[in-house]
Amino acid sequence: MDLTKEELLRYSRQITIPGFGLQGQLKLKNAGVFIAGAGGLGSISSYYLAAAGVGRLRIVDRDTVDYSNLNRQIIHWTGDIGSYKTDSAIRKLREFNPDCAIEAVREEINEDTCESLVADCSIIVDAMDNMPARRILNAVSVKKSIPYIYGGVHQLDGMVSTFLPGKTPCLECIFPDTGFAPSATPPSILGPVPGVVASIQSIEAIKILLDFETPLAGRLLCFCGTDMTFREFKIKRDPECPVCGKSKTED
Ligand SMILES: [Zn+2]
Repeated sequence: MDLTKEELLRYSRQITIPGFGLQGQLKLKNAGVFIAGAGGLGSISSYYLAAAGVGRLRIVDRDTVDYSNLNRQIIHWTGDIGSYKTDSAIRKLREFNPDCAIEAVREEINEDTCESLVADCSIIVDAMDNMPARRILNAVSVKKSIPYIYGGVHQLDGMVSTFLPGKTPCLECIFPDTGFAPSATPPSILGPVPGVVASIQSIEAIKILLDFETPLAGRLLCFCGTDMTFREFKIKRDPECPVCGKSKTED
């Protein structure tokens, strides 16, 4: 598959990055990315990955747009209130980049659906707002050996890491399930914070798809908007991890 004249122009400013090139652009064109959620994080990662020329994006969300989403979920506009987020997202993204095939699926990500929803995608971008759903994504990432790019936000803070099955810790290694039930109150979030986190996730996704530069693997990057600092923590695989640990991977 070649690039059209329009594609060469559209992506010219990234094709010219050393190490990216036409081959990199073709890899993006042939790739399928799974975006779990069309909220604050998914709004940004879907825009940037469509803009970058990823050939196929599968976005899964079952919610509708309401006013409390609009401070950060910038793919949804005031006129979309009451619409399904998948319908709202697909309208914007198809107009934004018609070269990108958008599959918007209105379904819940749970233990029964996740594996088939992720099938035939080569990367999982986490745009969820809760840990139980993330644990399900993580388990499928490990089982199917699909890289998983984690992102989370709270108030003015965020976290990102890239989990590469078999090479790095998984989500469960660093956030083991303690049975703690999160508060039912929706968390407070300053609008641009998911923008920062999902932009980093998008960079990671592109790098992984191209096998280009150094991924955020084995490291947890924490962004603190209150004092505007980035801190990085080395993270290690837990040999007893119930998802990726020795006993599990030997099965
Ligand atoms: Zn693990």
